[in-house]
Amino acid sequence: MPSIFTKIINREIPSYKIAEDEDFYAFLDINPNAKGHTLCIPKKEVDKIMDLDEPTYLGLMAFSRKVGKAIEAAIDCKRVAMTVIGLEVPHVHVHLIPLNEMKEATFQHKVSLAPEEFSEIAEKIKSKIE
Ligand code: AMP
Repeated sequence: MPSIFTKIINREIPSYKIAEDEDFYAFLDINPNAKGHTLCIPKKEVDKIMDLDEPTYLGLMAFSRKVGKAIEAAIDCKRVAMTVIGLEVPHVHVHLIPLNEMKEATFQHKVSLAPEEFSEIAEKIKSKIE
């Protein structure tokens, strides 16, 4: 069965899209640690990051860097954290989290946002993609 993220790539489930190319897709995390928390995924469905082939791994890092720089430009934060966990969704994803405080990196601190806020944040980040 396709992962929830494959369904997002295939537009079977909606997402607040940030960026897309032939191999990768970026969208806002629906239960964010902080405003602007974004996920970057390979379109190829692989569960664990260490199982990615090297070109896909390196491509995912380059794509995440591009998206991370846009987040830094769009969101008021000290820096953008990058983390990979994957205990919930078995489809590789890089978390990009704008940080002002350590608690935002813990996944125990969550912010709740209205749909309009998600849309506004996505547009802001999108406008900074180079
Ligand atoms: P983990 O697998 O532990 O790295 O976490 C999976 C992440 O995916 C969590 O931060 C969820 O909030 C996020 N997530 C799950 N479903 C969706 C969805 N439909 N749209 C956006 N983010 C999601």
